[in-house]
Amino acid sequence: MIFEQIFNMVNVGIVILDRDLNVRQWNRWMETHSKISGNEIIGKSIFHFFPSLDAPWFKRNCKSVLAFGNFSFLSQKLHKYCFPLKPVNTFGIKFDHMQQNCTMGPLRDQTNVVEYIFLMVHDVTEVAAYEQKLIEMNIKDALTGVYNRRYFESRIEEEFERHKRYKRSFSIIMQDIDYFKKINDTYGHQAGDFILKSFSTSVMSRIRAVDIFARYGGEEFCCMLPETELVSALSVAEDIRKRIEHTTFEFKNTPLNITISQGVSEMKPDTSCAESLLKKADDALYEAKRSGRNRVLNK
Ligand code: GH3
Ligand code: MG
Ligand code: MG
Repeated sequence: MIFEQIFNMVNVGIVILDRDLNVRQWNRWMETHSKISGNEIIGKSIFHFFPSLDAPWFKRNCKSVLAFGNFSFLSQKLHKYCFPLKPVNTFGIKFDHMQQNCTMGPLRDQTNVVEYIFLMVHDVTEVAAYEQKLIEMNIKDALTGVYNRRYFESRIEEEFERHKRYKRSFSIIMQDIDYFKKINDTYGHQAGDFILKSFSTSVMSRIRAVDIFARYGGEEFCCMLPETELVSALSVAEDIRKRIEHTTFEFKNTPLNITISQGVSEMKPDTSCAESLLKKADDALYEAKRSGRNRVLNK
């Protein structure tokens, strides 16, 4: 009686499965979060209600508990969750399911034979959300939300090596907003910040999900285009250039127009390192500035 009250009061999911993996016990926490009552699920196969558990990793763990009496820890870091439950709160991070740490282990009868498996489900969504936020703070620029220079520099090294090994095309676009100082000086720093954010959003909506776009410095951005040859990179850059030139960004009822200059470079068999690829794009950008701005050049 007392145990039953505790069983239903604890802030953790408790599930007991028999040797055929049918549900024997289902506590109130599980009822609340799964919206499946004990009456519905008890006596039925767990896989009938949770087909995603009908997978090698879960069955292997069950087998190990039943055959050897082992305990298993199904970490959120590895599995994200065991039961696909709706999260109560996602703390500002997009999680489709409640993040869980699960423990499973044996329950034995009087003769010490493993008769049941118990599963304990801990909701760790909050911890996972803060961890995710810390990771993002480390790799993203606070103002624009795009990747920061540190992340970009570590990724370009990796991508450079990968593309070199597999002899694939790889291009870089360096971008710099023209006369950006004028925006700050004329309309204020807030307007400048607004332009940086709007520009980032606009570029993000044009590039592919595999491309890596980063704020490289003040009003300087860089775009890494994996598996992309120079002609295509030039066409992406030209597309972005036109799009920016023809967009009017509205800041507090003030229409703002900007242009950008871009330098493009492609990895060649003789490109020695990621840094020299960046240097080539930077040289082309400098040339684009020098020759009149609002243009795309390559080296
Ligand atoms: P150019 O066409 O030669 O690129 O000229 P520019 O004015 O864009 O370049 P310059 O390097 O002279 O000025 C860049 C300005 O960007 C100066 C700096 O105050 C401003 N800036 C850098 N970071 C930020 C930021 O986070 N917010 C705002 N609002 N301005 C910034
Ligand atoms: Mg500039
Ligand atoms: Mg600049």
